[in-house]
Amino acid sequence: MEAPDISMKNSGNNSGIPVYIPTALQRFVGQQETIRLPGSTVKEVLDQLVAQHSELKAHLYTEQGLLRSFVNVFVNDEDIRHAQGLNTRVAEKDAITIVPSIAGGAGGDLSNEEVKRYSRHLIMPEVGIQGQKKLKAASVLLIGTGGLGSPLGLYLASAGVGRIGLVDFDVVDFTNLQRQILYTTEDVGKPKLEAAKARLQAINPFITIQTHETRLTSDNAMEILKGYDIVVDGTDNFPTRYLVNDACVLLGKPNVYGSIFRFEGQASVFYAAKGPCYRCLYPEPPPPGLVPSCAEGGVLGILPGIIGTIQATETIKLILGNGEPLIGRLLLFNALKMRFRELKLHKNPGCALCGPNRTITQLIDYEEFCGLGRGQEHANGGEAAASKEITAEELKTLLESKKPVKIIDVREPHEYDICHISGAKLIPLSEFMQRIGELDSADELVLHCHHGMRSMKALEMLRSAGFRKVKSLQGGIDAWAQKVEPGMPRY
Ligand SMILES: [Zn+2]
Repeated sequence: MEAPDISMKNSGNNSGIPVYIPTALQRFVGQQETIRLPGSTVKEVLDQLVAQHSELKAHLYTEQGLLRSFVNVFVNDEDIRHAQGLNTRVAEKDAITIVPSIAGGAGGDLSNEEVKRYSRHLIMPEVGIQGQKKLKAASVLLIGTGGLGSPLGLYLASAGVGRIGLVDFDVVDFTNLQRQILYTTEDVGKPKLEAAKARLQAINPFITIQTHETRLTSDNAMEILKGYDIVVDGTDNFPTRYLVNDACVLLGKPNVYGSIFRFEGQASVFYAAKGPCYRCLYPEPPPPGLVPSCAEGGVLGILPGIIGTIQATETIKLILGNGEPLIGRLLLFNALKMRFRELKLHKNPGCALCGPNRTITQLIDYEEFCGLGRGQEHANGGEAAASKEITAEELKTLLESKKPVKIIDVREPHEYDICHISGAKLIPLSEFMQRIGELDSADELVLHCHHGMRSMKALEMLRSAGFRKVKSLQGGIDAWAQKVEPGMPRY
């Protein structure tokens, strides 16, 4: 091209001007985030870039060779439009950043590719070009990328929501694939966020996917949530649900709620500025163990598909500012009866979080609030959960020692049919109180369930009834299958 010495510098990774490639365009450059290239002006550097990665050219330049209107280029922190444009000079100490006009900016025009992609939206008056630009400028945070997060992510990405944040810290497991449609069999063992980001970005390279690989806690929630317009709750546990609700109310953000259990689901939009919050509905969580998790109670695989899609619909309506949102309404769905019901929700004037005399003004310890973890140990007079539990390996040793020990399985009969420990007696937790007379407090008892929650509940019942020689199998039969009986089917 121009100065002959330029091409001589075109080798090695540590020389040249660093060019930061946005996520949306990384697939055209072999997933590189930074590429160092020679050149003394922006144009020379970018010419080198498209010469090396020809696919990128059409995404950066129009046929006339002008920078596309949705691509902004910065040298350090300055937009080149406010300098000398493509002729802005650069030196070794400078950095070039390519910023596609995603998620914001008053402009946010749609490129021709985007117009084509979203055409079925654009021809609807309820969305139109203005609505599509709102979607592009919007940011949505999905808490959880599991059963609910899967359809949410897929539809919001397809719809062109400009910036989608994902919070999760889990790894894809075989038992996820029955409902978590973001993932494939090949993804098993990978971090969920890595697989989710790749899938969503493959669906729509015009949006930004931001990942937060962490457990959401009182320490990080405000910082993470504040960067988004709308928060969508796809969690499966009470501490996180209250945490998300409280943080949303404190930050003044809408919280698109969904929950699932077996074949029933719920959805609503909690937005304290316009209606009730989750605490108005449920000021306190149920005691631990009363409401089983999906892992224990099961969930019909398609149910999160339906509820998550309803949450995605509500999210898009909030962004568009169109239609009647589920604010102040609780939608109940029963898949077996194929019936939707709707309940009216009212703002509770006595709500400790969003009422006029609120007492909650900052995030609290949600594990303790929900009677889990530390709080529970304190409530039990400092007695650690460990002293009530036995590990799978310890149980194996105990059985091999031929000491008389009775194993009580507190799961449901259909779970017992999937797998059980040889010699275990089945007394489901649901019948436990009525059948307590079948047990002898003189016996050494080991209780187990699937993961160790229900057996702890049964253990407490026995202790209240005066039983002392009783332990709960830590991690349930699942831990047993992993550590002692590897041939046993897991579910
Ligand atoms: Zn409230």
